[in-house]
Amino acid sequence: MSMNIRAGTARDYLESISKEIYSVLPKDILNIVDLDLFGAEVVIYTLSPGKFADYYDKIRELAKKLKKRITIRTPNLEEIARKNAEEAKRFEEIINKNRRPPSEAEKVIKEIIPEEAGIKKIVFDKTSGRVYIEAVKPGVVIGKGHTNKIKILKETGWIPEIKRYPPIPSPIIWEIREFYMDRGVDDFRTKMLKRIAYKINIQSTWMITGQKTWVRITALGGYQEVGRNCHLLTTKDSRVLVDCGISLGASPRDMFPELKIPEFNLEEIDAIVLTHAHLDHTGALLYLLSGYSEHKYDGPIYCTEPTRDLLYLLLEDYISLSRDPFPQARPEEILKRVITVDYGTTLDITPDIRMTFYNAGHILGSAMVHFHIGEGFYNVAFTGDFKYDKKSRIPRLLPPADPAFPRLEALVMEATYGGKRDTASFDDAVNKLGDIIRTAYRKRGKVIIPAFVVGRSQDVMFAIRYLRDNKLIPEDIPIYIDGSIWEATAIHTSYPEYLSKYVRDLIYEEGEKIFDKDVFINVGKDKNKRLDVISESGPAVIITTSGMLNGGPVLEYLYYLGRDENNILVFVGYQAEGTLGRRIQDGARTITIPIDGKLTTVDLRLDIETVEGFSGHAYRDQLENFLLDLNARRNLGIKLQNVIVHHGEPKKIESIAKWVERNIRVKNVRTPDNLETVRLI
Ligand SMILES: [Zn+2]
Ligand SMILES: [Zn+2]
Repeated sequence: MSMNIRAGTARDYLESISKEIYSVLPKDILNIVDLDLFGAEVVIYTLSPGKFADYYDKIRELAKKLKKRITIRTPNLEEIARKNAEEAKRFEEIINKNRRPPSEAEKVIKEIIPEEAGIKKIVFDKTSGRVYIEAVKPGVVIGKGHTNKIKILKETGWIPEIKRYPPIPSPIIWEIREFYMDRGVDDFRTKMLKRIAYKINIQSTWMITGQKTWVRITALGGYQEVGRNCHLLTTKDSRVLVDCGISLGASPRDMFPELKIPEFNLEEIDAIVLTHAHLDHTGALLYLLSGYSEHKYDGPIYCTEPTRDLLYLLLEDYISLSRDPFPQARPEEILKRVITVDYGTTLDITPDIRMTFYNAGHILGSAMVHFHIGEGFYNVAFTGDFKYDKKSRIPRLLPPADPAFPRLEALVMEATYGGKRDTASFDDAVNKLGDIIRTAYRKRGKVIIPAFVVGRSQDVMFAIRYLRDNKLIPEDIPIYIDGSIWEATAIHTSYPEYLSKYVRDLIYEEGEKIFDKDVFINVGKDKNKRLDVISESGPAVIITTSGMLNGGPVLEYLYYLGRDENNILVFVGYQAEGTLGRRIQDGARTITIPIDGKLTTVDLRLDIETVEGFSGHAYRDQLENFLLDLNARRNLGIKLQNVIVHHGEPKKIESIAKWVERNIRVKNVRTPDNLETVRLI
């Protein structure tokens, strides 16, 4: 067994790394007064933050060596004052001597940062010594090789944190940013992060005894079905929940994952990890945090930053629409617990598990999650929902999945389109959508496109922009956006670094003009505006929620426009069994839907089309290519022994599982049912 700097308790650990830290960062010169662990982060408290500017590279090297994030703060003086008023006062004097007052610092910042950065907001946080800078072009604020950032630190003594100012105004993003500035929230998070730090930095059983651990996955939901995804990953030292979703089309009894089983104890869960924001992967969180049992989950929820924002939006929407009788926590309870992690950043989440996210290409912020267990003992990855489209010529919203796992023994894979014939082309889909819009234009009809708030809507919006830019559809056809789609689109434009290069460049070039306001018109859930759109004569495209016709404005559009044979209903996304969307797709033409609180029957006479190819899920050929590409790295750390297939209808799961058996050299291909546990090693 190799020696490791970790030993014994978290306190021992802090002591051992403090020696290492002080050997690189001189305590006296840098005025360091304390070190502490928060989650997987080491926080250095200093009275002279500005002096750290000269040690920027050293801090980076140190972070790499310790495999920890290192942040600098000024100490919380209020807290110190409670124990020692005199010391707090002395600290305050030194801090103030070492940094400029906010008004002066603001001037200096504006001198350092070039005009083109488009600074919109500068906020000073005295408690932590940080200055938040919001700008249209954060990259320009940071500067090449972080030069501007370092300069701000050096010349003002404030620790800069730089955020992107959303190109399309997004109330949700502001709400979330403000939420985290709340002192009460900060308090809750500080306590949580301390607990995590002390938990993850104890030496694992495996390290102490030299015994091997074991790794198991328990299927709690989303196996042999689509919906309520939930996996429990357990080792000797860890219990990690991956996703916790609901089945939107199911009866209340079958909506939730199988949480009422002896193996599942909420108070024993160390971490919840979310692959992406869709409700079939996240919807049950509200229930978990509602205090439905004696215990409430008080641990961390790990996800990417865009996933957090989209999740908040989707849950707010869900709560406002849902009528299910189960207790629900406020989405803020989730925000309180979220720890965001970028793609490619490796983080300790339990004593024996290290986690890394990789782009999954499914929706904004979607991730494949890789778990490195027991210092090189075993590696398992969950694909989550993913897309592996490397063929399309028409530019897409997101880059394809990037499974750059350094090592891998087991893979848990989705199979929504695992059937033999489940293949379609994105290019064909965009062209077919163009045909449909042109047909509607000729007939002066309206095209209704039900789409999920997140994912397909933005894909379709960009596809329509592409069709317009290339003069493939008439320029004078208005595009109406209803439901929360516009807000979700605004969130997309706030995270250009997560999008494909094509879309990213558009956002950098055009900013808020990316969707021409005279063409793309936000109805914004406004009923009067909606009725105007409906009664307006002439052709139009309407993109609206919900994607599977479970509710939302699309039902009103169907009620008013569904009887006119000049109109066209276009399905662009997956329609799950049990949903109204699936029933219509399967031929139902007389439907009963709630309109103004009353169940109303409508005879559909409009055209109904399905456009395959927009899906954010990997088609059969993409699933195969994904596995073949992974397997081609056999000598490069990828040693697939176990493949577990889930997230699909049983026949599709069986079909792709058979293909894996024949084409990939693995020991076991498994297709468990819910409630089964698979031991990986
Ligand atoms: Zn999804
Ligand atoms: Zn899913």
